[in-house]
Amino acid sequence: MNSLLVADTVSKQFGNFTALNGVSIAVPKGSIFGLLGPNGAGKTTLIRIINQITMPDVGAVTLDGEPLQQHHIRDIGYMPEERGLYKSMKVGEQVLYLAQLKGLDKAEAKKRAKHWFEKLEIGAWWNKKIQELSKGQAQKIQFVVTVMHNPKLLIFDEPFSGFDPINANLIKDEILQLRDEGATVIFSTHRMESVEELCDHIALIHKSNKILDGEINTIKRQYRNNTFDIGVEMDASAFAKAETALQAAYKVSPAEFKSLGDELKLRVQLGEQGNSNELLKQLQSYGQVTHFTEVIPSVNDIFIQTVNESL
Ligand code: ADP
Ligand code: MG
Repeated sequence: MNSLLVADTVSKQFGNFTALNGVSIAVPKGSIFGLLGPNGAGKTTLIRIINQITMPDVGAVTLDGEPLQQHHIRDIGYMPEERGLYKSMKVGEQVLYLAQLKGLDKAEAKKRAKHWFEKLEIGAWWNKKIQELSKGQAQKIQFVVTVMHNPKLLIFDEPFSGFDPINANLIKDEILQLRDEGATVIFSTHRMESVEELCDHIALIHKSNKILDGEINTIKRQYRNNTFDIGVEMDASAFAKAETALQAAYKVSPAEFKSLGDELKLRVQLGEQGNSNELLKQLQSYGQVTHFTEVIPSVNDIFIQTVNESL
């Protein structure tokens, strides 16, 4: 695997408190890497170490095979959790100033700012002060500032907090596009359900420890447990009999999925030996099968299961 960023057994103490306990991650080039875990897990601490804002007590971080150095700061675009723009400075001035700090000349900065302001349809804010913008609007400016110098590594700390769903989606799409154009992305979130379609790799952090990481579909395959949501249109008077027959062979529970009919709806756990074709045949003998879908574990389910197993 070709990793852009590697953190190797990184530990960090604050007084007696261990904020990171030997955490390692390897972020593949061109991936979107989700750093997931509840509040206080240690995600921001790791991100601050990668950005050389704090030093690890133990462990090392490399970017493109080189130990982190000052000059790497220009290779990274970082959107901190505590957004940091100058409140009384005008948006346009500020964007150009910050882009120049990242090494762009003024003409290039103007060109790229124009591109992004048009793309995000925020041109009208150019002469406003940050303090005149809403939190979500200021966050869009911060996003532009983060990506404008075209860094090879983008790091977003809780990028979706503070955005309404429409803007959160817009930023999600921009992140996907930046990845498609060659950037590598790390982002953190404590809301696992909302972003799993965005990342291709994840690391789950819990109480300062990494408890799981890897390619998301590989992890999901490991955690799938041969469970199907099924729906069968049939005479309602025969529901109980069918359910009893299924219970004799499988673990059966109620299913919650949207449907128009009032069919028999169940979640059926086949177990290791179970065969989905056999189940389908059985269902066909009851009536018209309207629903037959494998239940793929969500990252949230996997997180909860992994935490319980690690106790
Ligand atoms: P996350 O981003 O996953 O929510 P953080 O990395 O911000 O978590 O924090 C992890 C833990 O470390 C928290 O309990 C937090 O209070 C503590 N912590 C973070 N930074 C400091 C600091 N500078 N001094 C003392 N404790 C800190
Ligand atoms: Mg945080």
